[in-house]
Amino acid sequence: MNVAVFSTKPYDEQFLVQANQDGHSHELVFFEPRLNAATVTLAKGFDAVCVFVNDQVDAAVLEQLAEGGTRAVALRCAGFNNVDLKTAQRLGIDVVRVPAYSPYAVAEHTVALMLTLNRQIHRAYHRIRDGNFALDGLLGFDLRGRTVGIVGTGQIGVEVVRIMRGFGCRVLCHDLHANPEAQQLGAEYVTLDTLFSQADIVSLHCPLTPDTHHLIDAAAVAKMKTGVMLINTSRGAIVDTAAIIEGLKSGQIGYLGLDVYEEEGDLFFEDLSNIVLKDDVFARLLTFPNVVITGHQAFFTRNALESIARTTLDNLTELESRGTCVNRVSASG
Ligand code: NAD
Repeated sequence: MNVAVFSTKPYDEQFLVQANQDGHSHELVFFEPRLNAATVTLAKGFDAVCVFVNDQVDAAVLEQLAEGGTRAVALRCAGFNNVDLKTAQRLGIDVVRVPAYSPYAVAEHTVALMLTLNRQIHRAYHRIRDGNFALDGLLGFDLRGRTVGIVGTGQIGVEVVRIMRGFGCRVLCHDLHANPEAQQLGAEYVTLDTLFSQADIVSLHCPLTPDTHHLIDAAAVAKMKTGVMLINTSRGAIVDTAAIIEGLKSGQIGYLGLDVYEEEGDLFFEDLSNIVLKDDVFARLLTFPNVVITGHQAFFTRNALESIARTTLDNLTELESRGTCVNRVSASG
C-alpha cells in the first residue's frame, strides 16, 4: 500500500522504515503535520493514512479521505478515541490499531511517576544542583503495606498490579470484567466507591469512552482519601482537570502524576519552549510542587516503538492481502 504517515517524528520514521525493510514493501511517505481538516488534502490518492493519538480523524476528515481514495486508517497506538468509527464504517474505511505493544513500557512509567512523587525526586534533583542538601519537605512513605487502586485491569493495568504487588502493596481493582490474572496476583475487585475510599494511590488504566469521560470529577475526588496520590497515564479526559486543581488546592489530592492531559493536543509532542503558554489550566497545574507531568511519553521505549512499527505494517499487509485484519476496530465493537 502507499501510506501517508502523519504526525511523523524522526523516531517514527526510523522505526517504520526499519520495519518496512524487515519483511514489508509498503510505500511510506512521511508528513510532519497532524492529520486534521487543514492537512487532509496531503492524503489524497494514498491507500492508507497512518496516524497517532492526537490526529483528528473525525467525520469531516474521513469524508475527505474517502473522496481522495483512502481505504484504511492505521493507528500506531492502542486507543482509538480520536477516530469517528461510525463514519469510518459508513464510508467503508477500515480502522486498524496496535492493541498491544509494550504494556510494560506504560506500566513502568506509571510506577516511575508514583516513585517520583512519593520520594520527590523531581524536587531533589533541582535542590542538589543548587547546592541545597536539606531534606525538609522531601519526606516520603513506604509503599509496602499501602493500598493501590487500579481502574481498568487490561494489559497495562494488570502489569501495574504485578509491580505493585512486588512492592508489597494491597491492590484493589475496578473493571467491567474481572481479569483472573489480577486475581491470581492477589488483587481484589471492588466497587469504584470502595476503591476511591480505601486507596492511597489511584491509578487509571481504562480507555476513554463516553462512560469514562470525567470519571474522576469533583464527586469522585471527594470520595477519595485525604492526600491521595492520583496517577493518569491513560487518556487526559478521564480526569476533569478543573476538579483535580480544586482537589490539589484543598489538599484532598496530595500528589498528582499525569502523562496525559485533556487538552494535550495543543501542547504535547512539540517543542514550544519559545512560545508563551496560553493554556491557563495547564499553567496552574505546573505551579504545584506535588504535581509531575510528562508529555505522553509512557509508551516511549525502544521495545514499544519496534513493536508499534512492526504491528502497524503487519496490519496494513493483512488488510491488503485478506481484506480484513485481526486488529481492526469497528463501531459495533
Ligand atoms: P486494555 O483494553 O487491555 O484494558 C482496558 C481495560 O479497561 C479493560 O479491562 C476494560 O474492561 C477496562 N474498562 C473499560 N471501561 C471501563 C470502565 N468504565 N471502568 C473500568 N474499567 C473499564 O487497554 P490497555 O492496553 O491496558 O490500555 C489502557 C489505556 O491506556 C488505553 O485505552 C490508552 O488510552 C492508554 N494508553 C496510554 C499510553 C501512554 O503512552 N500514556 C500508551 C498506551 C495506552
